[in-house]
Amino acid sequence: DVDVLIVGAGHAGAACAIALRQGKFDGTILVIGAEPELPYERPPLSKEYLAGDKPFERLLIRPAGFWAERDVAFRLGTRVTAIDGSAHSVTTDAGDTIGYRHLVWATGGAPRRLTCDGHDLTGVHTVRDRADADRMMAELPRVEHVVVIGGGYIGLEAAAVLAKFGKKVVLLEALDRVLARVAGEPLSRFFEAEHRAHGVEVRLGAAVDCILGEDRVTGVRLSDGEVLRADMVIVGIGIVPAVEPLLAAGAEGGNGVAVDGQCRTSLPDIFAIGDCALHANRFAGGASIRVESVQNANDQAAVAAKAILGQPVAYEAVPWFWSNQYDIKLQTVGLSIGYDLAVVRGDTASRSFTVAYLKQGRVIALDCVNAVKDYVQGRKLVTEGNSVDVARLADPAVPLKELAG
Ligand code: FAD
Repeated sequence: DVDVLIVGAGHAGAACAIALRQGKFDGTILVIGAEPELPYERPPLSKEYLAGDKPFERLLIRPAGFWAERDVAFRLGTRVTAIDGSAHSVTTDAGDTIGYRHLVWATGGAPRRLTCDGHDLTGVHTVRDRADADRMMAELPRVEHVVVIGGGYIGLEAAAVLAKFGKKVVLLEALDRVLARVAGEPLSRFFEAEHRAHGVEVRLGAAVDCILGEDRVTGVRLSDGEVLRADMVIVGIGIVPAVEPLLAAGAEGGNGVAVDGQCRTSLPDIFAIGDCALHANRFAGGASIRVESVQNANDQAAVAAKAILGQPVAYEAVPWFWSNQYDIKLQTVGLSIGYDLAVVRGDTASRSFTVAYLKQGRVIALDCVNAVKDYVQGRKLVTEGNSVDVARLADPAVPLKELAG
């Protein structure tokens, strides 16, 4: 038996092992991961790595020696397929049964796939792991026309990289604006305009009928019959949390596995953290959500580690996120879910501005575009949920730190 068994060697799993050793945990730690690599940073897969600007070695969260020194063991290329909560053991696809004292489920999610005809043709890609990015990069020299399906952050980032490579990119979004689920209209329109200015054809309200091709993709047919030429299709339509074995073992959940404020699932000694964990988030007004970000993975990992160390703390970390597209650096703090007012601070045409989201007069989130100062100074507004004077908030000459407290 191992003392702590971590399933998933991604951001959250790695951070949990690190936090345990930092907290002087001296029991055995085993990390089981489906991918062949040691834990690495996922965000560059649609940014610097895809662009060829950062080699894989620089994506590793820690070098191999770090794990060896701290006695964190890995079993990679291995998937946990079943959990027996009462026996405190898991089964892997290699046929092993491994007992645990504490289990930390940190499996993230699998990219949501299209279900239409042609969805599995060669040349149709999702971007979740290194293998996905490597497959795309290997094809790129032969690719001229790219269709990106989904105007979320990953789709937009991939479109930016490919447009910079000189590919002809069409981006399809089903809703009437990009980033509709995560940002307010001013930010959506800004990114839409930036992509158009870089030669990306952005199509809103677009519905895909099917993917065309014989052995590899040649096009995308829209529901109105129009056919777009495509040598490559990138599908960025979200993830499905990888929680099946846990739910099958009786854990509560649905779109993710339900956890309490200490990241405990409804099953004894089983925690869940990161993209797969459905939790009541203070910054979403207590609503039960999953947060897909490095921040959430790291901070929930620390919370689970604390609980295992017998020093329980509640998960209350302020959410933050970033996205890089072209020369635009977006930094987000807070969650804009349920906002009733979006205030633009500064001029979007200047390409440096902030969108502030308010709910009942309180600042709940900021999207800072090339505006590091607002991001740094505005965190406090979001953390404390300050009520602010909207006219002063909208005035970029008033530093955000003057509005706090
Ligand atoms: P993951 O990092 O996905 O790790 C889960 C691991 O578990 C995977 O390796 C998976 O293969 C493995 N696994 C799954 N099931 C099993 C099983 N049954 N047995 C064993 N192993 C299993 N976040 C940001 O904050 N900023 C960004 O700019 C940003 N950009 C992103 C760009 C891309 C292309 C992607 C894909 C994500 C991005 N994210 C970004 C999100 C961020 O990477 C995730 O929120 C983070 O990786 C979540 O960590 P996790 O440990 O929960 O899941």
